[in-house]
Amino acid sequence: MSACEVCGNDYAMPIVVEAQGTRHVFDCFECAIHRMAPICEHCDCKIIGHGVESDGRFFCCAHCAASEGARGLVDHV
Ligand SMILES: [Zn+2]
Ligand SMILES: [Zn+2]
Repeated sequence: MSACEVCGNDYAMPIVVEAQGTRHVFDCFECAIHRMAPICEHCDCKIIGHGVESDGRFFCCAHCAASEGARGLVDHV
């Protein structure tokens, strides 16, 4: 029951992440990020830090959000 849901590796000390009522199991952070991280709508990078969100769209930073027309966002640092 502890196999990574991304790569299938059965690791003895899995990373368990609960998000929106669903439980996810990973063997490493790389797999967790691959599965869980939202993707910036402007530059397509994985959002691993706080990021910013506007009307259900995710951006890695306020600069990207502004580039896509989302106004009034500031970085949460
Ligand atoms: Zn994995
Ligand atoms: Zn970005």
